[in-house]
Amino acid sequence: KEYLADSQRYETMTYKRAGISGVLLPALSLGLWHNFGFVDNIQNGRDVLRCAFDLGITHFDLANNYGPPFGSAEENFGTILKKDFKNYRDELFIATKAGYDMWPGPYGNLGSRKYLMASIDQSLNRMGLDYVDIFYHHRPDPDTPLEETMGALADIVRQGKALYVGISNYESKETREAAQILKRLNTPFILHQARYSMFDRWVENDLLSTLEENGVGCIAFSPLAQGMLTDKYLKGIPKDSRAAKDKTYLNVETVTSNLEKVQLLDAIAQKRQQKLSQMALAWILRKPQVSSVLIGASSAAQLKENVKAVDNLNFTEEELKLIDRIIS
Ligand code: NDP
Repeated sequence: KEYLADSQRYETMTYKRAGISGVLLPALSLGLWHNFGFVDNIQNGRDVLRCAFDLGITHFDLANNYGPPFGSAEENFGTILKKDFKNYRDELFIATKAGYDMWPGPYGNLGSRKYLMASIDQSLNRMGLDYVDIFYHHRPDPDTPLEETMGALADIVRQGKALYVGISNYESKETREAAQILKRLNTPFILHQARYSMFDRWVENDLLSTLEENGVGCIAFSPLAQGMLTDKYLKGIPKDSRAAKDKTYLNVETVTSNLEKVQLLDAIAQKRQQKLSQMALAWILRKPQVSSVLIGASSAAQLKENVKAVDNLNFTEEELKLIDRIIS
């Protein structure tokens, strides 16, 4: 059936600025790391994407190697874009990345100009796009000069293949150096993508202040700690959950060892008349340096629950202290 986006789609979502740029991002963005590969049910993926856009989620995050197999999330996304979103391209902010293992041999990984230049072309081809809105270097490569990697990002923008650039998983010091180089190259560096959740607060040490000094926004990935910060695992490990299906990234031991904390956090969420997922997202969005939380979803129902986080973004001092005590 033909997709017509909900006419109310911009009514309830909150939009936050990406650093000091002109770009506004939805408080919640959707990532396609899981649930969009050839191994997954594409009809479900299509439902999730339609639902996301209907809820005001304009930002979709991909990478060359999302799947499995590598590349298949971009390919599926391209197919769905063509079917459902061809009239909405200018309402979408689409990201992809290169930096992790993608193809065999010395040129399909890390941070060389050779890799990045080839990878962006492959990604555009798989998604059927002329350009992406933002292209990221996915992780730091200590063995390639930062000038080379940042120079490739700059040239990708000059070639019109990306409008903005970002980096991901870089520490504070490398981020500052990257920002200096990109400023010199007149390249719009607007986002840093970092893991940030109640269970992983490393960005609070000094990355967030570095980003603020450089006018760059933080987009927080795995804000639900891959599902642990929801009510999903409160009564055991559901068969269709990430922890049951995908031992590489989230395993049962991690879930079990965090269960007590999750229960205590859930009690606070209930007092706030919020779901734990909603509280976990609001807790990250409390930081002014955070432009968006980048969630995953295996169903449209999860998305509908999660976007309601924006209904209560405020915390009392007492709540914050209580949360600190539980998670420290
Ligand atoms: P989350 O922490 O949001 O975890 C998402 C998972 O949690 C879902 O797939 C689902 O898992 C579960 N979930 C979500 N909402 C609910 C809910 N309301 N109730 C119950 N369970 C729920 O983020 P991800 O780890 O998926 O990462 C999000 C995105 O961040 C990725 O898609 C990717 O774009 C980006 N990312 C970037 C990285 C980088 O290096 N730059 C690294 C990792 C991610 P289930 O299948 O169990 O239902």
